[in-house]
Amino acid sequence: MHYLPTRIIFGENAVRRGYVYLNQLGKKALLVTGKNSARQSGAWDDVLSVLNGLKIESVLFDEVRENPVLKIVMAGVEVFTQNRCDFLIGIGGGSPIDAAKAIALTAANGLTQDRIYDTSALKKTFPLVAIPTTSGTGTEATQYSVLTDSATLKKAGFGHDLAFPVLALVDPKYTLSLSEKVTLHTGIDALSHLLEGIYSNKRTPLIFPFIFQGIRLIIKNLPSALENPSDLAARTALSQASLYGGITIAHTSTTLQHSIGYPLTSVYGVPHGLANGIVMRQIMELYYPAVKAELDELFSFLQMSRSDFYSWLDSFQMHMETKLTPDFIEAKIPEVLASRNMANNPITASDQDIRDLYHSL
Ligand code: NAP
Ligand code: FE
Repeated sequence: MHYLPTRIIFGENAVRRGYVYLNQLGKKALLVTGKNSARQSGAWDDVLSVLNGLKIESVLFDEVRENPVLKIVMAGVEVFTQNRCDFLIGIGGGSPIDAAKAIALTAANGLTQDRIYDTSALKKTFPLVAIPTTSGTGTEATQYSVLTDSATLKKAGFGHDLAFPVLALVDPKYTLSLSEKVTLHTGIDALSHLLEGIYSNKRTPLIFPFIFQGIRLIIKNLPSALENPSDLAARTALSQASLYGGITIAHTSTTLQHSIGYPLTSVYGVPHGLANGIVMRQIMELYYPAVKAELDELFSFLQMSRSDFYSWLDSFQMHMETKLTPDFIEAKIPEVLASRNMANNPITASDQDIRDLYHSL
């Protein structure tokens, strides 16, 4: 089954080109952003200029930080409700956009913080416009929101059709201001989504063109963007690949590769994409026997071998800075096993697989 209710405008001046659709969403918008990225990327100026032209009022909520926590969602809900906003515009990386999805749903359904993950309570939402400034999560085209409970340090996502943005305005120029680290980590996150589209039990042939093309774009353009951050063609390719990754996981969901990385982020502060990168080779080795035909076809398409791919990955020198403690590993195995995307693995991953993988880092 294929479903993607988000209208996507990709490329130069995407925000300006979105004005007709923005005009249909209401008269007052909550702008959900992080600390600097909306302004630094230039997206902020473009959004305000279009909103001014349309006489749409806006209220700023710029409290979202990396790996958004539940209480920030509730703070956003309060600002949205008190100001009687009609819709939301999430500007930034995955963190502000995911927070905006949760704010929209929580506000529309009158939920309390302890019910944010209760997808059975979701009956309606407010329209959300997503304007990505990173090229990694693809959240502008997914129904997922990934949040962290700061009380338990548990990072987990939820998915619901109502969480799809109504409009995604993707202008790759906003990613020109990304640091080298964020460029790398987000590029690897997108690669992870695309690979997980192959691994997932929900994989579907209609998505494979996005997966294969997206991976090819990343293999070629991630090194170029790292070498020359102002290479707009490479940035454009990475934004496109990120979007392809979002379209992929919207249909296939993620797998162990994502769930095993979440505790590295919530406990050790490893950036999301880096957490995926650190385990990417081990996961591919673990899954290879189950998806041999698909991976062989991919590497034939890429005209590289699996070992060439590992060398490409090694060139980025992604690793854990700290050794994981046995206590951490034992405490997190049940959490990983219980995560909702474990059902999508092409093989049943055992607690010993997860233990071995964590010990190998
Ligand atoms: P992020 O956490 O949104 O941002 C990372 C850093 O990059 C922040 O410091 C941010 O600054 C900065 N930044 C963003 N855009 C910038 C720009 N154009 N120029 C300069 N700095 C910029 O990063 P992300 O990797 O995009 O998002 C990660 C989150 O998304 C994680 O929580 C992950 O679990 C989630 N995720 C969601 C999905 C999904 O489908 N929903 C999929 C994968 C991952 P500011 O603080 O100023 O914003
Ligand atoms: Fe991800």
